[in-house]
Amino acid sequence: MDPPSASLVAGQEYPRSYAELRAWFDQDWKCLDYLDWLRWPDGPACPGCGSTRGWRLTDARWLCAACKRKVSATAGTIFDKTRTPLTVWFAVGWLLVNSKTGVSATQVRREMELGSIQTAWAMLHRYRTVMVRPGRDRLRGDVEVDESFLGGPEPGVPGRGALGKVLFAGAVEVEERGFGRARLGVIPDASAASLAAFLEANVEPGSCVVTDGWSAYPAATRNRYTHKGTSVAASGLQAHEVLPAVHRVFSLVKRWLMGTMQGSVSPEHVQAYFDEWVFRFNRRHSRSRGLLFYRLMRQAVGGDPVTYRDLRRAGRRRPAPPPARGARQLPPSLDVGRPELPWRA
Ligand SMILES: [Zn+2]
Repeated sequence: MDPPSASLVAGQEYPRSYAELRAWFDQDWKCLDYLDWLRWPDGPACPGCGSTRGWRLTDARWLCAACKRKVSATAGTIFDKTRTPLTVWFAVGWLLVNSKTGVSATQVRREMELGSIQTAWAMLHRYRTVMVRPGRDRLRGDVEVDESFLGGPEPGVPGRGALGKVLFAGAVEVEERGFGRARLGVIPDASAASLAAFLEANVEPGSCVVTDGWSAYPAATRNRYTHKGTSVAASGLQAHEVLPAVHRVFSLVKRWLMGTMQGSVSPEHVQAYFDEWVFRFNRRHSRSRGLLFYRLMRQAVGGDPVTYRDLRRAGRRRPAPPPARGARQLPPSLDVGRPELPWRA
């Protein structure tokens, strides 16, 4: 689950609608100020000398009082050294988390009038790198787990696109009134060791893992989970009847990847697309659309800088998200009051 959001004020700390977003963030310095507010609630510390004394510049950067360095809230984040205006980044971030099916690079390039498809592609991928919250909770309770392939022939899903065959595992919480949260992970094979690693990363020990009769699951769950396996062949049922939740999720995500994204996803980026899809799916009951934007931006200023070259060679070797960072204590020596900005109120 996300950290509690009850204390966040809609229309003040995050925009309630796309219209409000465009009204608030009509200038780049306002976007930068919002990122600054998210990243340094107690004021910034200079990355050069550590000083917390400084002055605000009119473009919403800081001038360090000690070493005279100019400090921006985007330094060391996914927005680091971007040449794309932050107003565009904000609009794209909103569309990415609030469109039911996300947005494609082609769509972003067209709608934002970007010079190249590479720029749009890299923006979306930079956002995807922060869509897994560091230190997020694992699934718990009754959790259906199964594996599947992407790229094989699927009923109702057109084409194979650029995708070869990619094996992945899924886990979905089963609740009384439907499905809870989901997780998806590319796995190298369906061995007990690979499935155990997937479970370790995604399902809280002590949970009840519900699977089909695949022979690797008893070993993959041993000593850590209660395991309930049902042989599909022996049950006389269809696979989607034995594991309805995880099969529903498989079908949704495959339709999205092979349909909406037109199968144009290369195998090394499948995990990034899974992260995007899971981000939206797990927040589908969110009380406000703006909250998803807020979460994305929070995670974006906590992320590491990513270059286009990093993205090109990313994929399965993508490093695990860094551990959650604790609150940093800073003296309240810097005045950040800007009452004309709603999130500063
Ligand atoms: Zn300094």
